[in-house]
Amino acid sequence: MSSAHGQCSLYLVPDQPDFTVQDFSSFVSALQDIGLISHRINSDNNDTDYYSGERFLDYIAYMGCAPAIQFEATDENHDFCFIKLHRYDVAELIYSNTQSRAPHCPACNKPVRNWQHNMNSTTVLCDSCGTSSDIEKFDWRKMAGYARLFIEITDIFPKEAIPQQILLDKLSALSDTNWQYFYSCR
Ligand SMILES: [Zn+2]
Repeated sequence: MSSAHGQCSLYLVPDQPDFTVQDFSSFVSALQDIGLISHRINSDNNDTDYYSGERFLDYIAYMGCAPAIQFEATDENHDFCFIKLHRYDVAELIYSNTQSRAPHCPACNKPVRNWQHNMNSTTVLCDSCGTSSDIEKFDWRKMAGYARLFIEITDIFPKEAIPQQILLDKLSALSDTNWQYFYSCR
């Protein structure tokens, strides 16, 4: 059984699409040191999935009434909140299949509804003004991100939780790029 929550995630993403970490294990250690993540979720040769760290709730503010956040899987519920690190050789666009919003063209500022049909690996053609612009120049309205590195925090519905500035600042300090966030649902 899967819930709507389990289908959605919050993603932290560097501002610079080409940014990546040279030393992945140091990056993981740094995320552990700031208390965003803790130990690796035990599975075969998996260095991407981690339990949330002891400062997680200082960094991620949940809106509304206090939700029952599950940090570990139980027999009844396999949707739980953990952190997944994604790395790619070239920048990838992660976007929402559901709850999606049309990105806004940087040239005319109009929503581009057919963007998925007008896209190649680095640009999107606007069907309103006919301008082709780099993917990262579009305003994805916090429902997509384009990068080589993503920090996914699972089991968060769009706007249900918001990363605090202190977390974005700490990520900037350990990576030499600014960070932003978005939501995506499968
Ligand atoms: Zn346009």
